[in-house]
Amino acid sequence: MLPDYHIHTKLCKHAEGDVSDYKDVARKRGIPEICFTDHMPSADGYDAPHRMEMSQVQSYRSMIIDIQGDSVPDVLLGIEADFYEGCEVFLRQWLPLQNFDYVLGSVHYIQGWGFDNPSERHIWDSVNVTATWQAYFDLIERLANLRLFDAISHFDLPKKFGHRPSDNNLKEMAKPVLDCIAKNDMGLELNTSGLRRPVSEIYPSHLILSLAFERGIPICFGSDAHRPDEVGNDFDQALKLACETGYTHYFRISQRKKKLTPLPETL
Ligand code: ZN
Ligand code: FE
Ligand code: FE
Ligand code: ZN
Repeated sequence: MLPDYHIHTKLCKHAEGDVSDYKDVARKRGIPEICFTDHMPSADGYDAPHRMEMSQVQSYRSMIIDIQGDSVPDVLLGIEADFYEGCEVFLRQWLPLQNFDYVLGSVHYIQGWGFDNPSERHIWDSVNVTATWQAYFDLIERLANLRLFDAISHFDLPKKFGHRPSDNNLKEMAKPVLDCIAKNDMGLELNTSGLRRPVSEIYPSHLILSLAFERGIPICFGSDAHRPDEVGNDFDQALKLACETGYTHYFRISQRKKKLTPLPETL
């Protein structure tokens, strides 16, 4: 089995189960390693209803350290950090002090619009889809240039409800962003949560993953579990997608250092 590098905890206020429940499911499914990447707290109130409080970071850390140790699977301490307008100063000073194994970079808002939030989905009806994707990619590029993250989660998240530009426009918009990700030595996550969403597709798509492969961008796997039974979900499909696009390796990480590992042939 493959490691699952994207798992939430109930500290984010929209996930269930104890961290030990996630670990138990991983063990039963033969997953060798998991990384908790809960939504990072914000210092300025950004998206506060969907993330832990600053005062809970210590409990987050100890909760995870408590279930590390000799029993399989290995457990890593990570975080899913959002890039948004005005986050830079805080991220630059806070993130490097945290001693995380893994930092995932995400964009969930475009100018205050939670474009992937079901309750704000209707806004898609009044925007230009291509321009919205461009605005999203501009934020991802700024995220990458900060050089504070190890990988991008759900790279083509704006497709969640099915809104997307033409393949040609998507390619032209994605190429410079992927160049920038490669230049900054970042990875991409194959996030299987898209299969549980209206789009019913892994993030990122075959088209984008092929462009990433051409640029030598390393990949890893994440379920984005918000419930224990979602750990490692659909990794067989993610492995298939990785192989189809040409990948032979994925990365494992520890203390922010990536190590390439051969992909298994099947799960
Ligand atoms: Zn979440
Ligand atoms: Fe996310
Ligand atoms: Fe997540
Ligand atoms: Zn996520």
